[in-house]
Amino acid sequence: MNTATDTPSPAPRAEIVVNLEAIRHNVRRLRELVSQGGDAPAFMAVLKADAYGHGVVQVARAAREAGADWLGVATPEEALELRAAGDTGRLMCWVHVLGDDLGPAIAADVDVSAHTAAQVRAIAESARSLGRRARVHLKVDTGMSRGGASPADWPAVLTEAVLAERDGSLTVAGIFSHLACADQPDHPTNDAQEQVFRDAVAAAEELGLRPEVRHLANSAGALLRPSVRFDLVRVGIATYGLTPAPDVVSSEELGLVPAMTVRARILMGRRLAKGAGVSYGHTWVAPEETDVALVPIGYGDGIPRHASSTAQVQLNGRRADVLGRICMDQFVVGGAAGEGDEVVLFGPGTDGEPTAQDWAEWCDTISYEIVTRMRGRQHRRWVNETAR
Ligand SMILES: *Cc1c(COP(=O)(O)O)cnc(C)c1O
Repeated sequence: MNTATDTPSPAPRAEIVVNLEAIRHNVRRLRELVSQGGDAPAFMAVLKADAYGHGVVQVARAAREAGADWLGVATPEEALELRAAGDTGRLMCWVHVLGDDLGPAIAADVDVSAHTAAQVRAIAESARSLGRRARVHLKVDTGMSRGGASPADWPAVLTEAVLAERDGSLTVAGIFSHLACADQPDHPTNDAQEQVFRDAVAAAEELGLRPEVRHLANSAGALLRPSVRFDLVRVGIATYGLTPAPDVVSSEELGLVPAMTVRARILMGRRLAKGAGVSYGHTWVAPEETDVALVPIGYGDGIPRHASSTAQVQLNGRRADVLGRICMDQFVVGGAAGEGDEVVLFGPGTDGEPTAQDWAEWCDTISYEIVTRMRGRQHRRWVNETAR
């Protein structure tokens, strides 16, 4: 017998650990929160960009187990990856350009979006050539000024959709839009966008369209503004246990559990003499004799360079400061450590370690970017894969 397998292999140099029980918990909790004080809207877990860095196939399975009615992704390729992994539920994608072949997505029963009359025509043609009926969600711009038909172009999009519905090449399954300021519940733009959306839906209904789902809310809208929940909420960041509106409510207050932990093992520890400059540019100089440790990941692994000399980690159970610049593959933290000791960059925050939200604040960004960019050379593993 090979006894080598009896020896536990050392933890990898760096790893991303995704807790799928946290995903399931968050989906259940969020479905409960968005059902308070009204009819329960359908719940879409938004899994674009590899589920915000958490692993799209694993997160999809967990989200479905916890009751996600829909999954949403950006691109048709992302949708097809979920189909290839065996997901058969309602699934929507919303980022594709004219000329992209939507045939495979339509054939795989993926709902697609259309922002322009030309897109509606192209989807209808593609469906006709497949002998299928596409399911389309028409996007109206209600004030974000990103995607979607402007109120001026909306009638043309509707007219095109009515024609295509009549000839059987597509069904308008949804009408949707996106909020620009949902994380600031008192921002007047929310009222304005909601009104434009209601008008756009009314215009579609006047032409005889009967969309199955009207949807406007992202995580912040779904949690902070009940009136924008409509028939379906599209929940991304909160699914991963992170608050969409850190100035308003913490993830803990929402009862959510951050699912991602990033950790590494120390490459070496050493003692620096007073006056030693650390890392490129010597932006940090030891004010006195200082113990430091070398963390073997850097911006090549998604660690933001903006964290230089500002972020903290948890080293052997205690907070330690990042000293000097983050490099491509390494950075230095203050504190005594030996080779192979554990360092936690961020996690759920329940054991004294920083959170992705802390890193976002240190780096002047949002938690979305922190978790989504952790896609370098770390091992990634999933725990609690089967529902308890
Ligand atoms: C990313 C995205 C969402 C999810 O946003 P969160 O703030 O992460 O909840 C919802 N809808 C659309 C169209 C998106 O692109």
